[in-house]
Amino acid sequence: MQIAKIDVFQVSLPYSGGVYRLSGEREYRSFDSTIVRITSDTGLEGWGESTPFGSNYIATHARGVRAGIELLAPSILGLDPRRTERINDVMDRALAGHQSAKSPLDVACWDLFGKSTGMPVYDLLGGSTQTRLPTISSLFAGDPEDMRTRVAEHRALGFRGHSIKVGALDDEGGPSLDAARVTACLADRQAGEFFLVDANGGMTPEAALRFLNLLPPNTDIVFEQPCATWREVASVRSRCSVPIMLDELADSESSVLLSVANDIADGIGLKISKAGGLTKSRRTRDICRAGGLTMSVQDSWGSQIAFAAIVHLAHTVPERLLRCILDPRTTTSVVTAAFDAPVVNGGVVAPAEPGLGVHPDLAVLGEPVASYE
Ligand SMILES: [Mg+2]
Repeated sequence: MQIAKIDVFQVSLPYSGGVYRLSGEREYRSFDSTIVRITSDTGLEGWGESTPFGSNYIATHARGVRAGIELLAPSILGLDPRRTERINDVMDRALAGHQSAKSPLDVACWDLFGKSTGMPVYDLLGGSTQTRLPTISSLFAGDPEDMRTRVAEHRALGFRGHSIKVGALDDEGGPSLDAARVTACLADRQAGEFFLVDANGGMTPEAALRFLNLLPPNTDIVFEQPCATWREVASVRSRCSVPIMLDELADSESSVLLSVANDIADGIGLKISKAGGLTKSRRTRDICRAGGLTMSVQDSWGSQIAFAAIVHLAHTVPERLLRCILDPRTTTSVVTAAFDAPVVNGGVVAPAEPGLGVHPDLAVLGEPVASYE
């Protein structure tokens, strides 16, 4: 089987909650999604998606994804999409870094691989644990009581975990506002619920430690990416007792290895487009497993196609190491594909279909913005 054609689609995903706010006064209203279709010489189609979280979250942006694909696509035309490691070798030789451009191409190859064998992608990645995958909400930073309400709304939708964004600047309310946010979000906690407190690298070590000191005793949280740099996170890590999760800094296999070697974190946010696709995410999964790190399997953002890749990978993570998965489907009313994985009892299960099990809606995707053959 050979890659015969690559089509690129662009879809805007308006945020259904209005304005999404992160630390550092970052605001997002809509997300720019790039969706890729790879057609093989046998007529099979594979799909992948890459949706950066704006341009100031990590070192990637949507137009960069499409410019990267313009460079990468000619290098993989004619190759066998089932040889995923070799596809990645070729892409890495064609373009340094830019993992979020490689990711949708890699994921589409896995979808094709699955369809060509009649197997779901999770079986190609090692087999499903059969676990119902616990979903986590993503709650932007805001007024404490409003955040408490949004936790309750997501609880009613079946979410078992909640990702609470913090990182108020001093003139916004600083560490005391963040402590009030977390206290409010945990006020109605139910048995079995868990809370990630995510500063997205927006705190200084000073602010992070002040924030932790202001929390009520025994507040049960995981503190995600408190600061931006390795030095800062390691410093907070050495002076606090809460578990630390890395996200923005866990951007490659080598960075996750560095984290394990220096015992800087207890878990990572494993985002597929940040890693560069399923091939590299699989390697990262295995490094985490060897190091005993928990994984929150996610993507930077996205629609049903990105979510399908999340679900298939998460099915192959041992249950005790799977913290949660991100379900972005409630964040936008745009539906790019049918994907039969409803939230039931706080979790989802992948459909037992060949490949990813996604069925894109070409009316939503529109005409390709670029094609390569
Ligand atoms: Mg995060």
